[in-house]
Order: sequence, then C-alpha cells, then structure tokens
Amino acid sequence: MESKTERISNQTQARRPQPDLEDPLLAPYWAGAREHKFLLRQCQSCGEYQWPPRPMCPRCFGTDFTWAEGDGQGSVYTYTVVQRAFHPAFQELLPYILAVVEVMPDIRMLGNLVHAQPEEVRVGMKVRVEFLDLSEGTTLINWRPANV
Ligand SMILES: [Zn+2]
Repeated sequence: MESKTERISNQTQARRPQPDLEDPLLAPYWAGAREHKFLLRQCQSCGEYQWPPRPMCPRCFGTDFTWAEGDGQGSVYTYTVVQRAFHPAFQELLPYILAVVEVMPDIRMLGNLVHAQPEEVRVGMKVRVEFLDLSEGTTLINWRPANV
C-alpha cells in the first residue's frame, strides 16, 4: 500500500528544511547520496566505521578517513510514529515513521521509514536504503522494508 510519503508533491518536498550539503564532515555523504550511493565514514588507521562523522576517531584518535559504500541493509533499532508536524512542510506527511536503523553494530542512523504503515513496523525489522531526491542536488537517505 502506498503511504503518504510517496504521494506528497514536489512543491512540498522543496519546502522541507534542507540539509547543509557544504558541511565538511558530511559533504561526501551527501555527494554519495546524490548518486544513490550509501556511504559510511571509515577510519583509515583502525578501520572503525563512524556515524555521525566526527573530526577524530574515538577508537584510535586517527584523523584520516575514507568513505566506503555500505550494502544499504539494516534493521529497525527503534522508531516512532510522528503525529504532529514540527515544521509546516511535514504536515502533509502525517502520520509518518521516523526510525533509528542499525546498519552495523553500534552504527545507527536516523531516517524516515517509507513504504510501510505504522502498524507494520517492528523493532528488528529488516530494512534497506531508499533514496529520496528532495530537490536539485539534494538526496535524502530513507529506509523501506527489505521485503517490499
Ligand atoms: Zn580509528
């Protein structure tokens, strides 16, 4: 069943708050998303993955990082069903699902869970990346059930 997230207009999408694509810690992530690649930041010294990106590796204090393409698979760590819009552009989406998705141990990312109804969502549910081209040059990484 199509959810409200897929039905919203391009005009509504364009009104949504936009991410800062120039943030030096996140610019490669956004550039990858624009090409529909799911990139994760990895420490070049110890191999530790990191999210959100920080200037220094918390494990080895390294400062050299690379961006590795993940498989785009994860599982719902926790979630909430949003019933009230905190910004007018989200009014049309209500109710929508915000999920924290674990993509590997201790690497959890927040995103909208689309193509799912609130009553279908479960902790531990397998999900995969869904790219949302929000506006020219801006692509968000959302999640969808792995079996849909
Ligand atoms: Zn490290």
